[in-house]
This record gives sequence, C-alpha cells and structure tokens, in this order.
Amino acid sequence: MKLTFVGAGYVGLTSAAVFADLGHKVWVVDVDKEKIKVIKKGKAPFFEPRLDELVAKTVRPEDDGPRAHKAGNLIPTSSYREAIPEAEVVFICVGTPSKKDGETDLSYVFSAAESIGKNLGGGYTVVVVKSTVPPGTTEKVAEVISDVAQSTAKFDLVDSPEFLAEGSAVKDTLNPSRIVIGASSEKPVRILKKLFSSFKSPLVICDIRSAELIKYASNAFLATKVSFINEIAQIAERVGADVTKVAKGMGLDDRIGPKFLRAGLGYGGSCFPKDVESLLSFSNHAGYEFGVLQAANTVNSEQYRRFIEKIKGRLGGLRGKKIAVLGLAFKPDTDDMRKAVSVEIIKSLLKEGAKVSACDPMAQENAKCVFSEQLTVNSKQLRFAKDVYQALKGADCLALVTEWEEFANLDWEKVKKLMRGNLIADGRNLYELEKMQKLGFDYFGMGRN
Ligand code: NAD
Repeated sequence: MKLTFVGAGYVGLTSAAVFADLGHKVWVVDVDKEKIKVIKKGKAPFFEPRLDELVAKTVRPEDDGPRAHKAGNLIPTSSYREAIPEAEVVFICVGTPSKKDGETDLSYVFSAAESIGKNLGGGYTVVVVKSTVPPGTTEKVAEVISDVAQSTAKFDLVDSPEFLAEGSAVKDTLNPSRIVIGASSEKPVRILKKLFSSFKSPLVICDIRSAELIKYASNAFLATKVSFINEIAQIAERVGADVTKVAKGMGLDDRIGPKFLRAGLGYGGSCFPKDVESLLSFSNHAGYEFGVLQAANTVNSEQYRRFIEKIKGRLGGLRGKKIAVLGLAFKPDTDDMRKAVSVEIIKSLLKEGAKVSACDPMAQENAKCVFSEQLTVNSKQLRFAKDVYQALKGADCLALVTEWEEFANLDWEKVKKLMRGNLIADGRNLYELEKMQKLGFDYFGMGRN
C-alpha cells in the first residue's frame, strides 16, 4: 500500500521504516529539515535499537551513488505536497506535549491536519491519528481537514493509538501487543485490517472516543502501578521488609503480573508524565476528580526528593561532596532526556552545593543541551565524564539513576580504589544488597534496608 507518516520521531520514523521493510511504499514527512537530511543519509536522527540499520536498509537513495540500484521503499521529505496526494493511509505521529496547566498542546496535531487537508488528492484517504490525543480530538482533526480540503477530496478519520516503548520500538512495532482501531464507519476499518493483516496481534475495533481513552487509561494504569510499588517500598523500609522480594511475590500472580513493579525513582520520559497530567486535566474538565491518579502523580513527583534526602543523610550534608551520577536517559536503551528524573536530581544536587560528575552511554549529548545553562554558570560544579570510571574518580557517592546494563557489572575493586567515599545510592535496585555490603560499601536501595 501507499502510506505516509507525518512526524519522523520515535513513533513516526520507526513505524515508517518497519512498514517500508514490509514492502509498502512509505513517505515520512517532517517540518524539521535537519531530521529529514539525516534520514536521507540512511540514519536515524536519535538512538533507538535496530532503527539505524532499518532506515539504512529501506531509505530511497537520492543520487546516482553506489546504492542507486536499490529501490528503497522509504521516502523522507519535508514536502507535504510530495508526501500526501498519492497516499492511501496517512498517519499523524506528531508530538502532543503538555502545557503548563497539564492540558495537552494539540497545536502540532492541528497544524499537521491543516497541511494534510490542503494536499489531499482526488482519491479516498484514511487519515489515522496515532498521536496520543484526548477524547474528542480526532473529530476536531476531521473538521480541520474538511475546512481546508478541496471539495473533491474524500477521507475518513480513525484513531489508532500507538503502544510502542522507546528502547524496544522496532520490536514492538513488529509485534504490537494489540491494534486498536477507533472508527465511525466500516470502510476505513476494512482498509486498516488489510494493512495490519501480516500482524498476529489482537484487534480491538471500537468507536473513536473509546480508542482515544484506551491509550490514556493504559499509560495511567502503568504509572499507577509504578507509584503503588514505590509506596510499598516506603512501607518495606519502615517495617524491615525487602520490596524486591515483595514485588516478586506479587508479580507471580498472573492477575497482577511482574512488569512495572520495580521500585525506584519513579516514571519519566515523554509519555507517562504528560499522559497522566493530560488525563487528570480532561477528567477534571469532564467534571470528575480522578483521585487515584492524582495520588500516583504526587507520589511520583516526590520519589527523587526522597533519594536526595537519603544521600544527604548518609553523607551528613551535600555541600562540597562529589556525587557520581550514573545514567541520565529516562530509562536504559534510549537517548531520550524528556522528563528524565536525572534532571531534577542533578539540579537539586547542584543547588545544595554538591559537585556532580555524570555519565550515560547514549544520552550524554542530549543531556549537555538540557544542562547548557548549568554548564556555563556552574562549569566547575557539573562535569560530564567520558566513562563510568572517570565519573567515579574521587566521588563520595555513586548515585545510580538509570539502570543501563553496563552499570550492572562494574569492577568493584577498581570502583573502591577510585572513590573517595564508599556510599552507593542505588535508585533503581540494580545491585545486590548483600554483595554490596560484603564488598564494604555503605549501600542503600529503594525499599529494602
Ligand atoms: P517526537 O517528538 O519524537 O516526534 C514528533 C515529530 O513530529 C518531530 O520530529 C517533529 O519535528 C514533528 N512535527 C511536529 N509538527 C509537525 C508538523 N506539523 N508536520 C510534520 N512534522 C511535525 O514524538 P514521539 O515520541 O514520536 O511521539 C509522537 C506521538 O506518539 C505523541 O503523541 C506521543 O505521546 C505518542 N507516543 C509516543 C511513544 C513514545 O514512546 N515516544 C509511544 C506511544 C505513543
């Protein structure tokens, strides 16, 4: 089929590359010309496992260079006029960040809708909203398109939320847990069923507003699960239990399941925080106070403070202390720094007068952008180390913030020699309590000592 993905981010580019590899002709359009330039060179403009190779394999070469013999199903462009008229299905995959008051900023979605509408061809097009949007938005997108499209353009709007996770986006796109299609007529459902027929995933066909709400309900439920286990961690610390054992015992019940039961520094990233805020906001507007979710949100925003307080307590203050922060990305296997808890942690440490030496295998460059102000003003207080051992040199405390696999098996004798102090603050319960204590570290995790 002929498909267009609008927005070449984690969702749009991954989906575009996967569908191109499955044999469809795919345009990916983005207003960010730099991104398009990078994709045209056969690269992904951000780090996502396996995406680089998939883009290199599928992208259509522009020139007569050595790869000109390759057909290439993936066509990156910043021109809507090139990307829209021929497409049978157009997916909107632009960002939906939250505004200061928690409400969703839909300006990118409506702007994309307008550009799509102006460029629809004379045939029939299914326009799919894949971005996470509050109930009622897809209907408004249809109005925006109607207002600007030529009278000959025929189209239907569908909401089909995306459930991929960063770090496993390619794998998730090839094996979706479920495919949700929210539509108000038969024809677009038939077309999408054909497009998705190579996937074995269960299909949920429903009305548009239910589809929109499924996405928020799913993310809010997972966020609540994270905050729930973080509350259990608080109790475990007070009654002398180990939250990792409690979580294991709970997760073996298949009504509960083991995922998202890891106590730690809470959830972050570009989705959970904003989707929780958005659901709280639109439920309020609909006249309902979502108490459970409000509590989950509050618990999450307090996790990092508890971590800092513990470090402070063990070190007897933070002024002049050197803290090695291991991990900056909001989770392992991504370079995404959006709403990463490392940002709040580092800012608090700097404010309290500590020196920070930070490192991350993939997110370091993005982190330097996030901390550009601190790097100019407090250049002596904040440093980015080239690797974990350089970060640990002279440190009073190792603060584990993102559980990258390469931080799991350190050369502990070397670590002991390099550090000035012996405090291990394990924000993700990555290390074994007994092992760390045997090695002579002053160790604390989250909810287990
Ligand atoms: P992203 O920020 O990585 O990418 C969005 C892209 O859209 C950017 O490249 C931006 O330049 C482009 N864009 C903005 N306005 C545009 C326009 N008018 N025309 C063309 N391009 C435009 O975002 P993302 O992480 O891929 O998320 C996209 C949507 O999918 C969001 O609603 C998000 O909540 C949802 N989602 C994200 C994930 C995830 O893990 N990242 C998972 C599921 C759902």
